[in-house]
Amino acid sequence: MSLDGRYDADNIFAKIIRGEIPSVKVFEDDKVLAFMDVFPQSRGHALVISKTSQARNILEIEPQALAEVAVAAQKLAKAVVAALKPDGVVVTQFNGAPAGQTVFHLHVHVIPRYEGAELGRHGAGGMADVEELKALAEKISAAL
Ligand code: AMP
Repeated sequence: MSLDGRYDADNIFAKIIRGEIPSVKVFEDDKVLAFMDVFPQSRGHALVISKTSQARNILEIEPQALAEVAVAAQKLAKAVVAALKPDGVVVTQFNGAPAGQTVFHLHVHVIPRYEGAELGRHGAGGMADVEELKALAEKISAAL
């Protein structure tokens, strides 16, 4: 999907918000949800989404919802760093398929980087073990 088009209310993150499919949550409130990426590019890769906005990308999102997601992304990044002690952390997001976006509900990636560890390929890695993700999510949420 390019930058043109419409929000699909049946995208995978909309289903996660509605509880129709499972996710490994790190934290949530009525505005935002942070959860583990199931195809992580590194150990502790997590995502933040707005629960109120139906924006596909940064061009569409309402400023207030964007601010909520940004604050939540910082909160998540701080907790990931405190819990997992990476050497660096990438905070990023993609807009439109040609830019690398695969799920069309705006989200921010928080990807810890470890010295000497290669980054997994975006959208091409294997599915993580759910029990391992739960253990990581617990560790990260304990550091909030
Ligand atoms: P993007 O390619 O920027 O749109 O990112 C979408 C991200 O969502 C990718 O990193 C996927 O690994 C991740 N992802 C896809 N399906 C799920 C899911 N059911 N639960 C958690 N993360 C997912």
